[in-house]
Amino acid sequence: MTLVTQEGILLRSHPYSETSRIMRFLTPAHGLVSVVARGARRESSRGRGGVETFDDAAIVLAYRESRDLHTLRDLQVVRSRRGLGKDLLRFAGASLLAELLLAHTLQEGSVELFDSVRESLDRLEGVERGRLPSEILSGAWGVLVQAGYPPELEACARCGGDLPGEGLLLFDPVAGGLLCPGCTQGREGGGRLGPGAREALRRLVRRRPDAEVRGARVHLGLVERFALHHPAPSRPLRTVALLRPLMEEAGERVRAPGDGPRDPGGDGRSAEPPSSLDPGQPGSY
Ligand SMILES: [Zn+2]
Repeated sequence: MTLVTQEGILLRSHPYSETSRIMRFLTPAHGLVSVVARGARRESSRGRGGVETFDDAAIVLAYRESRDLHTLRDLQVVRSRRGLGKDLLRFAGASLLAELLLAHTLQEGSVELFDSVRESLDRLEGVERGRLPSEILSGAWGVLVQAGYPPELEACARCGGDLPGEGLLLFDPVAGGLLCPGCTQGREGGGRLGPGAREALRRLVRRRPDAEVRGARVHLGLVERFALHHPAPSRPLRTVALLRPLMEEAGERVRAPGDGPRDPGGDGRSAEPPSSLDPGQPGSY
């Protein structure tokens, strides 16, 4: 056993016994770390009891290499993100990032991932409300990219061939990205993106999103379907059900009259039946 001091972002916390809590932190050196905080439920708003979900904290752990659960010895909040809790959309967006991180059960540390998540949470807390859908989507792709699962958007995800710049292309979440027309043949339905939507997706993945992303609900569906298959087939993200109506509500303001939410690029090429880009339709991707 060694005493380890490091920074951690609290992603989840739940009662463990009459007096203790289990806390799960993202750390730069050890990835996801689960700790038991003895006595935390009895403490006042100061000290260990005062940490809230998504706060940055300096934590001291009794760390055992071979164990999954470590003991929290000390904790000091270094950056509170209480602002996330004051707006349901901000909180739900941060929760999506947490759910993606916890689903990946990262056991190795990554300073890049940690910094990326910290920056995303700061943006979610601070940006004006109109930017929230694009910051949430960009933050979610940031987690997937930093965890080692970037979507393939520059070449066909099946054959590796070139992608045409024009026309609608299928985003295949199982293959992990866009497909060329040849690999799409014979595949019914699916989420087809026009050039504008593909560019918007590239900017989200590169963490340079448009201020206001069009068709945020469709883009949320892409994240949802992709995360179902990467790193491994998994259960649906619970946060998405909460986020979808909130994103739609926030996106309505930026949608021009006549724009459908199913034309995420707004490039006017979406000739697909309306349901084909609807992430709410089972099997549509
Ligand atoms: Zn192909």
